[in-house]
Amino acid sequence: MHCKKDEQLQRIINQVKSLTTKGKLADYIPALANENKEHLCASIYYLDKTCVSAGDVEHSFTLQSISKVLSLALVLMDHGEEYVFEHVGMEPTGDPFNSIVKLETNNPSKPLNPMINAGALAVTNMIKGSDKDEQFTRLLNFIKELADSDSITYDTIVAQSEYNTAWLNRSLCYFMKEHDIIKGSVDHLIEVYTKQCSIKMHSIELAKTASVFANNGLHPSTNKRVIPEKIAQLCKTFMVTCGMYNASGEFAIKVGVPAKSGVSGGILAVVPELCGIGIFGPALDDKGNSIAGIGLLERLSANYKLSIF
Ligand code: GLN
Repeated sequence: MHCKKDEQLQRIINQVKSLTTKGKLADYIPALANENKEHLCASIYYLDKTCVSAGDVEHSFTLQSISKVLSLALVLMDHGEEYVFEHVGMEPTGDPFNSIVKLETNNPSKPLNPMINAGALAVTNMIKGSDKDEQFTRLLNFIKELADSDSITYDTIVAQSEYNTAWLNRSLCYFMKEHDIIKGSVDHLIEVYTKQCSIKMHSIELAKTASVFANNGLHPSTNKRVIPEKIAQLCKTFMVTCGMYNASGEFAIKVGVPAKSGVSGGILAVVPELCGIGIFGPALDDKGNSIAGIGLLERLSANYKLSIF
């Protein structure tokens, strides 16, 4: 799709780009270590359907944890709030996204929120479908609708790479299976989850996906109601409280918009009633967020007064 190159956005990218040297690529999923650390690009999709961008915006990347907010929306549509929140909580955590510790200390044992790995695995387990393939296809089709692109697919190499090394995520699943939070085969769940995390798009598609949340679930480009308003609101609230892992508090203060990051270096950010933002910068800070991506959002928020608070 057409997205105009924007000089102002490019200037901000140039100002924060040196931050990439201070970050590190995620390498615990071996295939993610192949990215170029210096990459940084951004697209902004406004609700009036105009789009501005800067950098190599058509480079596609895997969603990783960004997918957690999209699977949550689908599962809430599938089952309703009451059922979903019997299996996953609503509270932020000060622990890293893949931590196992609170699963044991919380009583009853359920993951604190859907944005950490344990919670996201419980959510993926709830996607409706007669088998793992139908579960994944339903999620992929939903994401195609959000990104307004039929060509979205998943990266088989990244998916396989994570599937082969997801020991910690498997541990979280076995723990939750013991406590009846997840049902069925752990291997099947890990397969759906790793494919979900490997769904690929570029920053313009990510900005469009974000714009659906900015427009309260009504797709600004297709005019279709893709997500009920209440569920879009709920997802945005989770993004504010838990979307940037255990850096969500600082991010709310410094940027102040709902956002969700992934260890691939993507960030989906939502400026309610205005626009969706898609960023890709694979160099990560020590919490697993795109280091230059956060710098970019801080500048955008300060320059254009984007904070919702
Ligand atoms: N697929 C990744 C994992 O489960 C997603 C984590 C992330 O992006 N923070 O480890």
